[in-house]
Amino acid sequence: MADKPVRVRFAPSPTGKLHVGGARTAIYNWAFARANGGTFILRIDDTDPTRSTDENTQIILRAMRWLGLDWDEGPEVGGDFGPYAQTERLDLYKQAAQRLWDEGKAYPCFCTPEKLAADRAAAQERKDPFQGYQRTCRDMDPAEAQRRIDAGEPYVLRIKVPLDRGDVIVHDAVHGDVTFNAKELDDFVIFRSDGTPTYNFATVVDDAMMGITHVIRGDDHLSNTPRQVMVYEALGAPVPEFAHISMILGADGKKLSKRHGATNVEEYRDAGYLSDAFVNYLALLGWSLDGETTIVPRDVLASKFSLDHVSKNPATFDPKKLDWIQAEYIRSMTDADFADQIMVPELHEAGLIEGGVEYDETWIDALAAIVKPRTKFPADVVSVAAPVFACAETLEYDEKSVAKGLAKEGMGAILDAAREALLAVPADAWTPEAIDGALGPLPEALDAKKRIVFQAVRVAECGNMVSPPLGETMALIGRDDCLARLDRARAMAL
Ligand code: GLU
Repeated sequence: MADKPVRVRFAPSPTGKLHVGGARTAIYNWAFARANGGTFILRIDDTDPTRSTDENTQIILRAMRWLGLDWDEGPEVGGDFGPYAQTERLDLYKQAAQRLWDEGKAYPCFCTPEKLAADRAAAQERKDPFQGYQRTCRDMDPAEAQRRIDAGEPYVLRIKVPLDRGDVIVHDAVHGDVTFNAKELDDFVIFRSDGTPTYNFATVVDDAMMGITHVIRGDDHLSNTPRQVMVYEALGAPVPEFAHISMILGADGKKLSKRHGATNVEEYRDAGYLSDAFVNYLALLGWSLDGETTIVPRDVLASKFSLDHVSKNPATFDPKKLDWIQAEYIRSMTDADFADQIMVPELHEAGLIEGGVEYDETWIDALAAIVKPRTKFPADVVSVAAPVFACAETLEYDEKSVAKGLAKEGMGAILDAAREALLAVPADAWTPEAIDGALGPLPEALDAKKRIVFQAVRVAECGNMVSPPLGETMALIGRDDCLARLDRARAMAL
């Protein structure tokens, strides 16, 4: 097994959108494939027709693309082991089941639900250590079975677990060797009477036919694994390595759910999380590079991910840590990347940059330099940059800021002095340094506190008290409009 090329799969059921838990499973599979030069397969487990929808499949594919988890085989890209949706593989499951039946490794069972319930109750009554299916039809004469099938009696197909099979030991990369007592194994159903395969059967047929070497999935499936091992053994296929990853919990220690906030990947996309930051955060929910590194970019994940650093303890979803990682990703972007990937698209969408209007690159980079440090989420761009895009007539003044910084005794004199100082800066030298240089001496000249002076000018120019650094902002606004804003604000000052 060790020298076989790695083939892993992510097999979501399209019964809902892509949940953060599923996304983390997908990330681990993807990273494991990439780190081992292997193949990452996406398979749609849509065998539950009542709950699976095409719409959900599309949402999952879209979320996978947003996460940047490219798959080598699967929907839309194809591959040599398709089809990659279980509903399209029904014939393959039928053939595999038929083969087991022909080989005497599976058999039809005609027991009614009532009979099964009565058998179970009786086993409980007599405290039988074996509580599973009582193997009623296991040794039925094949001729009788055929007669009943021909007569139209409903039946399921059960796997014939060898009576001497003994305990099943699952070798799990996360949990170590997990032993399942032979008494827990009964001849379980592999095909239902309606002609559909059960999950434990279809999954193993697929994993075996697709040559999956490592099954990495949520540990809610650990209890299914001994049954799946029985199917591999019956099919004569090699049993893959397993890695069952822990659950994700909310802060209260309960399984992560809607109660804790957003659980679907696309809700995070829509809230403005960067795909890279989100993938980094989810990767750390149960895996670590070295026990301390928090920023693990995608390329590091794709080269360094390993199953031996996956923890078996449940991971707690911590929105604050996610936000911290998001801030780190934004902080570490170059101004130019921030402008291209976040700022310009946001400004464009808000209509602040008109389609087709070309802004000078230096101007855009200067704007990015002051907007980036104030941006936690892409949507912040618009509010941070709004004063720059306004003009003297349209600038919105924040009432509280005006009351606190402008509509006070003595502010009129400050604005007058600022106007005079700024008038002395020529239009062709309207730079942040020149503006700061002109305004710098004002507090002393006016015998006023620095904070009060700059607050008044800031509110006059930007309409609020939280805008980016004054010199840089005013340089971007432009000289004429800065002076016009002072004139407009003068009427509010006392
Ligand atoms: N469709 C199953 C799920 O979404 C896949 C389980 C598996 O990976 O075997 O839980």
